[in-house]
Amino acid sequence: MDLLVKNGNVYVDGYVENVDVGVQDGRIAEVGDVETADRVIDASGCLVLPGMVNAHTHAAMSLLRGYADDLPLQTWLEDEIWPVEAHLTAEDVRVGSRLAAVEMIKTGTTAFADMYFHMDKVADAVEESGLRASLGYGIITVGKDEEESEEELREGVEFVREYDGAADGRVQTMLCPHAPYTCDGTTLREAAEAARDEDVTLHTHLSETAGEVEDNVDEHGERPPEYLDSFGFFEGNAYVAHGVHLSDDELGYLASKNVGVAHCPSANMKLASGNAPVAGMLDAGVTVGIGTDGPASNNTLDLFKETRHAALVAKNREDDASVVPAQTALDAATRGGANLLGTGTGVIEEGHPADLTVVDLDAPHLTPKHDLVSHAVYAANGGDVTATVVGGEVLMEDGVVETMDAEAVVADAEETARELVERAEAEG
Ligand SMILES: [Zn+2]
Repeated sequence: MDLLVKNGNVYVDGYVENVDVGVQDGRIAEVGDVETADRVIDASGCLVLPGMVNAHTHAAMSLLRGYADDLPLQTWLEDEIWPVEAHLTAEDVRVGSRLAAVEMIKTGTTAFADMYFHMDKVADAVEESGLRASLGYGIITVGKDEEESEEELREGVEFVREYDGAADGRVQTMLCPHAPYTCDGTTLREAAEAARDEDVTLHTHLSETAGEVEDNVDEHGERPPEYLDSFGFFEGNAYVAHGVHLSDDELGYLASKNVGVAHCPSANMKLASGNAPVAGMLDAGVTVGIGTDGPASNNTLDLFKETRHAALVAKNREDDASVVPAQTALDAATRGGANLLGTGTGVIEEGHPADLTVVDLDAPHLTPKHDLVSHAVYAANGGDVTATVVGGEVLMEDGVVETMDAEAVVADAEETARELVERAEAEG
């Protein structure tokens, strides 16, 4: 065996068992009793989870964490975020993505889906960090002429062609028209066709706010899902982010098309976009993953916090404490997200890629240990993670990131973020 995670409380198929996890050639080779291996992580007193999957984020927005808060989505985007983003350089995206990678490793995320620009820099951060990711260039055509719009789609397709399978297969690609309200109809149709031609997933923001739904009806006479459907958007492999304002009929339709949802409860609450119908999604048979959305609207990439919020928001919305119980939320954060990204991870089972998150349970807030699945969702946070493993490679052990110089990455990000904001404010 290459790696042995020894004597942990391992989350296997809905239950926690005291077993060893043996890893060979990047995959889980044995769940049971393993004597030794080239490298051993002692997980005694720890909870071993399938690697957490962040199903929707914009990693480089970590540079804008705390820059603009307490505003509704459209004001936040148009008046605060977009003006600064207009000054973002490829180097900024590189630095922000590396910061996000360190944060994800430290908080137990092993795979993430990212839609942004300068995606080659995000891919570089994935390569360097050892994380797994599904990446797509965020196509936006609003305010652009026909030629510029075609160029946007071309950039998205070129990224797919160049980077699918990069970083020894840890990078997968997607086509990502940003949203129905930021892309013209022609681009939405052509992006959907291109995703089918390239055999990659199509990913977009959908029905995040009530205002967006109303505007879509005013402009196009249809609600956003029906509008996207008219462009063949759901004919291939697709999943959407948010889905806060989806009706029961729309959920049923998405389920019938095997279109999943990346649920982003913190961003939805922070921007007052509403509470997504997660219980309704699950009832309808929609695959649900959990995402943080960008760290400027969250404001962290801690998927433990997000999973807790996913469970709480559902109970609050439905006025029913029994909906989205701990195990359901944990499964969404692991196998749900893995299914959306198509990573084959999200479960601790022989033959699956060895992506693991190890949580130290030796803490007052994780005592006593009546129910470890409950603890994973309601009591633990990303700071409790001590080891992170992707494809059998140890990215962190005992809280020390091994693939990157975490301190240098953080210092670099502090400096780069300050310069970005100074530049944006000076140049307007
Ligand atoms: Zn987003």
